Amino acid sequence: MDRILEARKRIALVAHDHKKEELLAWAFSCKEQLSAHELFATGTTGNMLEKALHLPVHKLLSGPLGGDQQIGVMIAEARLDVLIFFWDPMEAQPHDPDVKALLRLAATYNLPVACNAATADFMFSSPFMTEAYRALQTDYSQYLKRQLPNQSI
Ligand code: PGA
Repeated sequence: MDRILEARKRIALVAHDHKKEELLAWAFSCKEQLSAHELFATGTTGNMLEKALHLPVHKLLSGPLGGDQQIGVMIAEARLDVLIFFWDPMEAQPHDPDVKALLRLAATYNLPVACNAATADFMFSSPFMTEAYRALQTDYSQYLKRQLPNQSI
């Protein structure tokens, strides 16, 4: 079944350490628009945003301590609409498998993701940010019914 992303979006924001300043600058430039939505963030990113923007942010665990996976669960359970994830292409992360898993789930459920300020600007200038949007979903029912190897029943 397709997912309806309501006008008021549930947005998660995440930035790796060397990208936090960039995310902060971008979020500042979009503060007005962000204030119309429900905001979530990994721990450190969330603290930083809350202090700088004076907007309420639901803070999850710090990314490397499980926060990325918490966001992944929100995506899988249709509890998130948009992901703003400024990941660092120049530094290996200790939680690289979690980063990959998060991006994979976003792709699995056709969730809009911005990995840099330019994409986030394009996203936020879209009318879909302020109106309901139908996100088409891939039909995974055949996958769920697949024949398992050596299956007798
Ligand atoms: P942090 O996590 O906001 O707690 O620093 C970011 C990340 O996922 O690396």
